[in-house]
Amino acid sequence: MNKLDTALVTSALKKAGFGLAENEKGADVVLINTCSVREHAEQRVLSHLGHLKHIKKSKPNMVVGVIGCMAQRLGAELLKDKTVDIVCGPAQIPQITELVTKALQENKKTLAITGKIRQKSAENKALEELESVFDSDDSQVPAQAYVRAMRGCNNFCSYCIVPYVRGPEVSRPPAVIIEQIKRLAGNGVKLVTLLGQMVNAYKYNSSGKTLCLADLLYMVSEIEGIEWIRFVTSYPAEEYYEQILKAMADLPKVCHYLHMPAQSGSDKILKAMNRNYTAGKYLELIEKARDIVPGIAISGDFMVGFPGETEEDFGETISLVQIARYKNCFVFKYSSRPGTAADKRLQDDVPEEVKKRRNIELLAVQEKISDELAKQFLGKEVKVLVEGLSKKAVSTSSPQAGVSPCGEKGYPPSLKLRRTSPQLVGRTAEDWIVVFDGPAKLAGEFAKVKITRTSPLTLFGEMI
Ligand code: SAH
Ligand code: SF4
Repeated sequence: MNKLDTALVTSALKKAGFGLAENEKGADVVLINTCSVREHAEQRVLSHLGHLKHIKKSKPNMVVGVIGCMAQRLGAELLKDKTVDIVCGPAQIPQITELVTKALQENKKTLAITGKIRQKSAENKALEELESVFDSDDSQVPAQAYVRAMRGCNNFCSYCIVPYVRGPEVSRPPAVIIEQIKRLAGNGVKLVTLLGQMVNAYKYNSSGKTLCLADLLYMVSEIEGIEWIRFVTSYPAEEYYEQILKAMADLPKVCHYLHMPAQSGSDKILKAMNRNYTAGKYLELIEKARDIVPGIAISGDFMVGFPGETEEDFGETISLVQIARYKNCFVFKYSSRPGTAADKRLQDDVPEEVKKRRNIELLAVQEKISDELAKQFLGKEVKVLVEGLSKKAVSTSSPQAGVSPCGEKGYPPSLKLRRTSPQLVGRTAEDWIVVFDGPAKLAGEFAKVKITRTSPLTLFGEMI
């Protein structure tokens, strides 16, 4: 969601004549797009503002704006910070050019957030207008784009801030989504990811018929130029589940990938989280997915240290992870978010060290599973959509890649070599990360790679 918002802001400002600065010191305007889901994310923004305060001492006219969920949550309180000139909520992003221009000209602070966030508002119309003309994005990965299918959320999981900062659930009209994807495809986009906090709940009434995500997948599949389609995030629920998976099995363009967070394996904790399923039901859904789409890659999110989580509850989470056999998992330590039901009614009673330990333990269990799953790719050929240069693109290498292990620990730096062709990174349709050597111009193109080595999270190989 946030990457998409950043892209929308960048695109709107570029259209208005602004350009991206190399760094903060060279910028006239610094905008920070924020997330409120976890406390840690907000703390990082506050420390970033501390850093900008120093820069502003020598550049008093620099405009600093905070946009997104944290802006919506803290509003005027954030504006009290001397460094901050603009506070702009997610629904006010369509006004960003105006807000920035005004701040540059008038040197006045502006607050633009939604007053009654849980009411459907006119702001949706402006958001729709901004989003529907969004058709190219140079801040994202080449040939890939995110397209929002739904805004907001009505689920109110007890720990979650999203319904309070993103507002009520709204499904965008299919015709608008399709038009937008056609334009993106016209601009070279090959992989489109449909977004929603509970994207599998997508529904839109059109001439007496309700269209669901499966219908949308069929419609997007028809678009020429689009080769892969993904959707995130799925909530574990029966509604439309089979239909969506059948569409996945039926449509060659829909990637065999499901991101379906379980959050916990303990029924007691799931109930306290206000997640409307049990661990048993969740595992049934996973089984159903594998029946309908054999070989489907599934990833999950978990939270450790939710109020009242005992060692026994945590043990149930470990068991669920062992049975589910995810491709990968994201594990978060619970943090209390102001105003949520858990914040009001439950005590954040699991000590930080325990959260940390459980986090590490759960990741270790998952790592073993990911490692086993990755090894199944050895010797196999995979199709990859190339994202660009890998972070370690130059110099060091592994023996498997045919270059001496120069630059690795214990070798003098003078032995460092440059690769003849750079190291690229891409992903398979199932979202496995693949690293291989190849020309940089392949970014945004498909490549065939034979896997020669694996690690729990990455497959390594040679282009064929
Ligand atoms: N809509 C998605 C999740 C969106 S938030 C869903 O329902 O699954 C992304 C992830 O952040 C969640 O899956 C959860 O694991 C984590 N998260 C949300 N609130 C949190 C909190 N208060 N503390 C720690 N992690 C949290
Ligand atoms: Fe938050 Fe639950 Fe909505 Fe996901 S479904 S965004 S966790 S309230």
